[in-house]
Parts: sequence; C-alpha cells; structure tokens
Amino acid sequence: MNKNYFPDKPKCHCGVFGIYGSLNASLHTYYGLHALQHRGQEACGIVTKSINEKDHSVFNIHKGEGLVSEVFADSKIFKKELPGNSAIGHNRYSTTGSSQLRKNIQPFIVNYRLGNLGVAHNGNITNAKELREELVNEGAIFQTTSDTEVILHLIARSKLYNQIDQIKEALCRIEGAYCLTILTDNHLIAARDPYGFRPLSVGKLNNAFVVASETCAFDILQAKFVREVEPGEIVIIDEEVFETGEIKSQRINGTTSPQKHCIFEYIYFSRPDSFIFGHNVDKMRRRLGKILARKYPVADKDGEKVIVISVPDSSNTTALGYQTELEKQGIVSKPEIGLIRSHYIGRTFIQPGQEKREIGVRIKFNIVRGVLEGRTVVIVDDSIVRGTTSKQLINLIKEAGPKEIHLRISSSPIMHPCFYGMDFPSREELIANRYNGDIQKIKEYLEVDSLEYLTIDEMLEAVSEADPENFCTACFSGNYPTRIDTTFKKEIYEL
Ligand code: SF4
Repeated sequence: MNKNYFPDKPKCHCGVFGIYGSLNASLHTYYGLHALQHRGQEACGIVTKSINEKDHSVFNIHKGEGLVSEVFADSKIFKKELPGNSAIGHNRYSTTGSSQLRKNIQPFIVNYRLGNLGVAHNGNITNAKELREELVNEGAIFQTTSDTEVILHLIARSKLYNQIDQIKEALCRIEGAYCLTILTDNHLIAARDPYGFRPLSVGKLNNAFVVASETCAFDILQAKFVREVEPGEIVIIDEEVFETGEIKSQRINGTTSPQKHCIFEYIYFSRPDSFIFGHNVDKMRRRLGKILARKYPVADKDGEKVIVISVPDSSNTTALGYQTELEKQGIVSKPEIGLIRSHYIGRTFIQPGQEKREIGVRIKFNIVRGVLEGRTVVIVDDSIVRGTTSKQLINLIKEAGPKEIHLRISSSPIMHPCFYGMDFPSREELIANRYNGDIQKIKEYLEVDSLEYLTIDEMLEAVSEADPENFCTACFSGNYPTRIDTTFKKEIYEL
C-alpha cells in the first residue's frame, strides 16, 4: 500500500489539539483533528477525562492507524468510549512500514503517583537519546520508541508535589522542538518550546477553551482565536478559568531563547487559512510568490501571455502572488489551473518497482492540455526534495506540448536534514545535496528551460516583517539553532 501521498515533500510529524470545558469534548477534538489532518495521516487518537460513579477521574482512549475519518468512523465511539468534558488529540505521521507504529500512536497516557496524565506532542526532542539512556539506566521501562515517552517518564519520576511544577521541571531538561497538549485530572496544559519552532494557539469555543497546532482547527468549530502560546510558555486551563475568565500562564524556565520559527511552516506545511507566528499563512505565501517574481521573472520570448500554474495545493497561493507581481512588472501573464490534482487517491495500491513513482504522479495529477499547449509556462512549487517527482511532473506537462517550461521554487535548495519535527529523506537523497547546491545541474536533471530558487535572504525578506533572526533555516543553511545529537537515528527512535 502506498501510504505516502506526497512522495517528494517533507512530512511533518504531528498535529495536536486540546479542549477543556465542553460537553462534546471528544467530538470537538475529532473535528479539530480533521482540520489538522495535513499534519499527519498515518494514525490518530483521542484521550478524554471523565468522572466515574465513585467520583474518580478516569482517562478514556481511542486510537488507531489511518485517517481521522477512518479511526473514528463509528459515531458511537464518542459517547460510548470517549465521554468527558476535556480531551486531547493527536494526528501522527511516521516513516512508513514501522513495526512500532501501533505502540507509538499518541496521545500517551499513564497513571502515576499524582494521578492520570495524557500527552500529545508535535516536534522532535533533540536530546531524547541521551535522556532515554539515562532513564533506562535508572530503571525506567519504555513501552514505545517515541521521544515523547521521555517526557512522561521525566514527569512521573519527578520528586515534586505539584503536576505543573513536575511538567516544568521535565520541560527544562528537554531540548529541541515541542508543542504539547497535556491532560491531567484537573488541567489542560499547552506548552511550546522556548524557540517556538512549531505553531500552537489558544481559542475559545463558547465557555470552553481549545488549543491547536493551527487555527484552522478553531474555524471548523467556529471557535474564536484568543492568542498564540508564546515560545517558552505553559498555558494552564482549569476550573478557575470559569470564574476568572483568564487562562493561567507560566514560563518554562526563567531565560528567554531567541525565537526560531520553522520557516517551512509558512512555505509549505501549515494550511494557508491558518494564522501562525503572528501572520496569516496565505499572506506569507503570496509574499514568497511576489518576491520570487520580482527576483526571477519570466517573459514570453514572442511577447505572448505567460501562463503561471501551481503544483496544487500547497503552492496555489504562492503562484497567485507570483502572477500578480509579474503583471505589476508589466509582463503579460495569466494564472491558470494547468494541473488537476485527484483528491481521492487515498491508499491506492502502487506496484513496486521501476514505475512506482511515475504511476504515483499520474494517479495524483493530470494536465489540462488546452491551458499548456504552445505556451510559456511557469510552474511555481514550494520545494524540491529528491527531485524525482518534480522530474515526472515536468515530463507529464511536456506531454501537453508547451513552448517553454520555467520552474520557480519558493524556498532555497534543501541541503540538510531537519531535527525539529519535519521528515526529509537522507542527506544523500536530497537533490540539492547530491548536486552540491548547483542549481544549473538540477535544472539540467529536470530538463526545464530555467530553474530558480529563492535564496535564504529572499525567503526571510518575504516572511519576516520584523526580525529575520526569528526563523529557523537550518535545512537550507545547516545552521541549527540548538545542540544536535548527530548520532540520532530515526530507525531506533521512531518519532
Ligand atoms: S530545519 Fe527546516 S524544516 Fe526543520 S525546523 Fe528548521 S526550517 Fe523548519
């Protein structure tokens, strides 16, 4: 089975959601996870907290492999298995075929000295390996290969007497990227790492409070956006919120780290209808397209209209920005839909072997010949990872007989792996790395008339109205903002 819908795109590991004070907590979490489906399609789960007949708090869980609509296909699950007025949920992406997949599906729950605890995590803990070794040496028994379990052990082994303090103590020990939703017997807690790599926001749904990786999860519920969880902040929501109307906030530690938002969230990963890192993703994606056109315009050699198309869906807004800017520069052009993407491929079976990727591209995309034939075509895409899918897509477009094909990429060449929760193939598989960043050689491989990428400075110019220093660009530059354990192996510590 092909579980990999975008064979040549980076994958984010996860999306998280949480709700406190709703009579339909599990159903609301289900809708929230639906909206966050793009952040992980391999597995998902929901944990709720309810009160039993003895007035004890009980944690309920339902999770499984597949899309949200598949795992929660039976509507009885919500009332029967997942009662309660608070919940957390998680969408997960993992490397395909992992035998550990089932065990690693989140949220994780434990019952320990101070009660129940459930955790859902988006990101990647960069010192998980050393923390895990230390915990194992002290006698901890791990149930999964996930880095997230390290957080649970650190909290459960804490000698402190208050769960919030225990969580803070645990978070002070972990490094890297994390956005967490944590459910205890009395609280919903949202925490974001001090660098703010991944997005996390708080919203309000009538009297209930919601937390989500992206604000598109609020829109589906008609919840109001309240604010983003600050980098290095823990937001605590409990019964007091209904008296005061205020959510409580604490710092994870006393120090402030430089902010390092993942620039890829703007370029490709977040949905364009989300608001993250202080801006609408749509706006940032258009700006990337505009700068791409300003720096690397394309004109037809015969003065005819240039056709601008996107690789749907993630590049749609960028292509609109690109075409708007071309017009502004006096280059006659037209935005067109030249590629039709099938939204119904699901888990289509793909024959293993030579043809695997080609048929994958054909299953996913088809060309609109009338739009492309005899035209100078600009294809706007957000990134090239291995290059194989881009090459097949270009071959597909060539079947329509365009005059010229120009490829414009709204990111820089990806040269390095990400250790903060985005999954790229190995360094050797990255096309930009294979060609030592030589764009001319990549152009020759792809067989296009021209190829241009944004430089790192141009990307930063597009997305950072305030301070370009506030973004992580490590997969392009190799400058990792945190200490990195280079011996980290995904196959051992499946994320
Ligand atoms: S390395 Fe790249 S993908 Fe990873 S957090 Fe940094 S910018 Fe984002």
